[in-house]
Amino acid sequence: MSETLLSEKGFKITPSRVAILRLLLEGKTPMTVEDIQKSLTSTINKTTIYRALSDFVECRILSQTDFRDGKIYYEYQDYHHHHVVCTMCGLKEEVDICIEASIPKIKKESKQFNEISDHMLEFFGVCMKCTS
Ligand SMILES: [Zn+2]
Ligand SMILES: [Zn+2]
Repeated sequence: MSETLLSEKGFKITPSRVAILRLLLEGKTPMTVEDIQKSLTSTINKTTIYRALSDFVECRILSQTDFRDGKIYYEYQDYHHHHVVCTMCGLKEEVDICIEASIPKIKKESKQFNEISDHMLEFFGVCMKCTS
């Protein structure tokens, strides 16, 4: 599946691209470059991982977000979603909530933008385990 996705998007199929993408396709969870490097069975240097990830984000195979912990997270999403994040333990839960419907309004409000191409949206709270 990762090979198909790569060739569909016009990428040259390299072992490192396949390995990185496969990990994210199977994990279906937000991962940092460090998480990815640790989970890979083969040794791939961070620069190569970074480069592959930013290429994948650019052509929208992966989504990129942050959870206010100073790290960048990459995720493969079957369906477009956002997350609720626990500020105590870092637990992340997917939520099928989006602000897509507000984009026409944002464009109307904006004085300097005609196009909105992407967005980031995460929710923060404390999970039940951490409140009990
Ligand atoms: Zn928690
Ligand atoms: Zn959204």
